[in-house]
Amino acid sequence: MINCGLKLKKNLANIGIILKEDRRLVMLDDVCEYGESLVEGLKAEKNLVLKNQPKKCHKCNSDKIKGVEVMGSYEGALFWECDECDCIILRFEEYKTEEYLQLAKGFWTNPSDWGYVPRSEFN
Ligand SMILES: [Zn+2]
Repeated sequence: MINCGLKLKKNLANIGIILKEDRRLVMLDDVCEYGESLVEGLKAEKNLVLKNQPKKCHKCNSDKIKGVEVMGSYEGALFWECDECDCIILRFEEYKTEEYLQLAKGFWTNPSDWGYVPRSEFN
């Protein structure tokens, strides 16, 4: 049996749409692969939940922290991501994040309708 956890795809920082300087919109497929637990696939920092956007990364001290919004999921940043070291910090408790990610599962849109650049168009 293949591990049903998810793998965070590489180069997350280059995909999706930049909504604001510190906000990015992605599709579920771009951040995790479908499996039983989506939140595990994010590989977020353990035991760390920050409701407010952190000013600095607790790992590398970078201030390039972005809020990442997932299409069809929570409206607003669902988690935080450091552009420098790619670490992910949850904004909501794990179970809550999972609920939101599950909402995005059934979500479908035609990416070209809204100018979304799919991951496959990046190298
Ligand atoms: Zn960092």
